[in-house]
Amino acid sequence: MKKRIENSKVLVTGGAGFIGSHLVDTLLSQNNRVVVLDNCSTGKLSNIETHMESSNFVFINGDIRSLDDCHKACVGVDYVLHQAALGSVPRSINDPISTHEVNSTGFLNMLVAARDAKVKRFVYASSSSVYGDHPELPKVENVTGAPLSPYAVSKCTNELYADVFYKNYGLETIGLRYFNVFGPRQDPNGPYAAVIPKFLGLLKRNEQVVINGDGEHSRDFTYVENVVQMNQLAALVESPTAIGQVYNCASGGRVTLNELYEILCKGLIRGGCEIKNVRPIYGPERDGDVKHSNASIVKSRDLLGYSPKVDFLTGLKKYLALQ
Ligand code: NAD
Repeated sequence: MKKRIENSKVLVTGGAGFIGSHLVDTLLSQNNRVVVLDNCSTGKLSNIETHMESSNFVFINGDIRSLDDCHKACVGVDYVLHQAALGSVPRSINDPISTHEVNSTGFLNMLVAARDAKVKRFVYASSSSVYGDHPELPKVENVTGAPLSPYAVSKCTNELYADVFYKNYGLETIGLRYFNVFGPRQDPNGPYAAVIPKFLGLLKRNEQVVINGDGEHSRDFTYVENVVQMNQLAALVESPTAIGQVYNCASGGRVTLNELYEILCKGLIRGGCEIKNVRPIYGPERDGDVKHSNASIVKSRDLLGYSPKVDFLTGLKKYLALQ
């Protein structure tokens, strides 16, 4: 089975963002033509600026809330890797309408445009948040609970629409439920920053880290290279039983926030950083947060041939080395 997308035209929506820009780097290094559709609301042009002059690269400054922009971006495309969305559970609780417009309506626009352009495959970013309040661990794809936030609702909606587009129009869709992805270029700032870059940023500035809850929440932190690998496997898999499905995209492990904090402190100190506020303080739990998150990657392994290339600690070492 082919594992690398090569000699193809690929649309990466949200390609100026954290995960999208890593996809773009890899795709261009493998002799593909890449189109990025992004409105740079949370992404940055600096993430893709090295490619701007490349004849294999086109940047469309556009919005997935515009069906017209989606249609333009899909012209002649073989594979869509749909990453554009407004991330963050708290953001969606503060502003559910924007989350809905981008993540649900924008997603539907992209499905329609991809269907009309007759792309070969539509791979999209879903999220571990779809497991909602179901307590079972590890998380298995067909056992989900009730969503706990508008963000989770938007990702559940994506999966429902993708399924319906596969069944009604034959658009080959595959959803990847990302579990707490981390790596270079992830934004450490702002109220909606992800936990690893946020803690790192605070520790490096010698500012106090506040952990929401008792620190015993756990997450399946996943290095971004694994996500790039899995997008390619999902785009290329040929077995009919693998298509029209959703898959966990994770490392398959579990680390508590207290453990993460300690590992980050040790890593920074080893790297020569002076950490003044060695102890974190504990704040209230955040609405919409699930307590534990740990993926089963059995289905991803069996149907897509996925095996995480970079485990959590190796990924963290790579990330810290690039700080
Ligand atoms: P990101 O914010 O860095 O990237 C999202 C990109 O989408 C940004 O470049 C942003 O400018 C773009 N975008 C937002 N609204 C847009 C619009 N209306 N039109 C066009 N572009 C728009 O976030 P990320 O972490 O790279 O996330 C990528 C995808 O993965 C998202 O769908 C997110 O929900 C999903 N996801 C991420 C994680 C994670 O841990 N990072 C976990 C689960 C799911």
